[in-house]
Amino acid sequence: MSESTSRIDALPIRAELRGKSPYGAPQLDVPVRLNTNENPYPLPEPLVERIAERVREAARGLNRYPDRDAVELRTRLAAYLSRTGGHPVAPENVWAANGSNEVIQQLLQAFGGPGRTALGFEPSYSMHGLIARGTGTGWISGPRAGDFTLDPESAARTIAENRPDVVFVTTPNNPTGNAVPAETVLALYEAAQSVKPSMVIVDEAYVEFSHGDSLLPLLAGRPHLVISRTMSKAFGAAGLRLGYLAADPAVVDAVQLVRLPYHLSAITQATALAALEHTDTLLGYVEQLKAERDRLVTELRAAGYEVTASDANFVQFGIPAPGGEPREAHALWEGFLARGVLVRDNGVPGRLRVSAGTPTENDAFLDAARALIKEDE
Ligand code: PMP
Repeated sequence: MSESTSRIDALPIRAELRGKSPYGAPQLDVPVRLNTNENPYPLPEPLVERIAERVREAARGLNRYPDRDAVELRTRLAAYLSRTGGHPVAPENVWAANGSNEVIQQLLQAFGGPGRTALGFEPSYSMHGLIARGTGTGWISGPRAGDFTLDPESAARTIAENRPDVVFVTTPNNPTGNAVPAETVLALYEAAQSVKPSMVIVDEAYVEFSHGDSLLPLLAGRPHLVISRTMSKAFGAAGLRLGYLAADPAVVDAVQLVRLPYHLSAITQATALAALEHTDTLLGYVEQLKAERDRLVTELRAAGYEVTASDANFVQFGIPAPGGEPREAHALWEGFLARGVLVRDNGVPGRLRVSAGTPTENDAFLDAARALIKEDE
């Protein structure tokens, strides 16, 4: 037990938090950091200038609370979704918060909570379960197939058996990288509605990197469906902390019952608005990252790794071993670290995850990957 865990446990803390560690990837100072699915490209200088301008303007009004309902920002986000998502989205359909983590927290505060449960198909984004715990929502771990896909029939059965109040579907999924087809999401939505009306949250944090389309058009006629998005990945603005959702306006009304008043600072709103003005430039980097992601998949396979197909800005891979059992992942993780490359061990047996970086970073990663698999032979 770590020193901080025992210090925490000396407090009269909630029982379910005893012995737990905070979520977070190691922030190590190494030359090539490809472990947190960040966008490797710094914001372009004209955007930095625009942010400074907008923030200066906002600073003049910091004696006042910010726009509590973030109307201008929600209007711009709705326009972005309408333009790129294949479905008209109005400002009343959109809600924004400090990162999609906060969006998810607000959704669980509104639709989960004590006596209720949320279900996700794991391995997936572990914060879904952790935010559930933090909001007093019971967590149910549903299975994925051996190749990390979701079988619609068995997933629907898991929902019918467990009767959750909230269902998470992450597509493209983190950490595996694969997307969930629209028909599967529809089958899960139907399953979730037939037991009792449950909310289905589709976490599309990585959708801009996908070979396929957003599931936004599925919102039509589905009042219990929520699509969650973020500016942390495609917009290259993880430090901004801006996530958002699209859903029926009633869902937006519901999360306002639990949000803290003025949760989005005037500085955050100003910065996000500036970034949205530069959407096309930022989406240009997404195209480069998609090409690099595809290169990582091809080159890793050519080197002999087992690689999960990826629709995200990262790739899951492992070393195949005789008998079909994958090799232990942590030793491989350490091998990369010793070569100055930080990748992620998400705890998926035999698998590691690498984020697509700049071409130079990816070259360094691939050199290390080729050397490590040779050593393993
Ligand atoms: N959803 C998924 C699937 C993620 O991987 C992440 C971040 N790694 C998030 C949501 C949260 O992102 P943020 O809070 O930065 O928007």
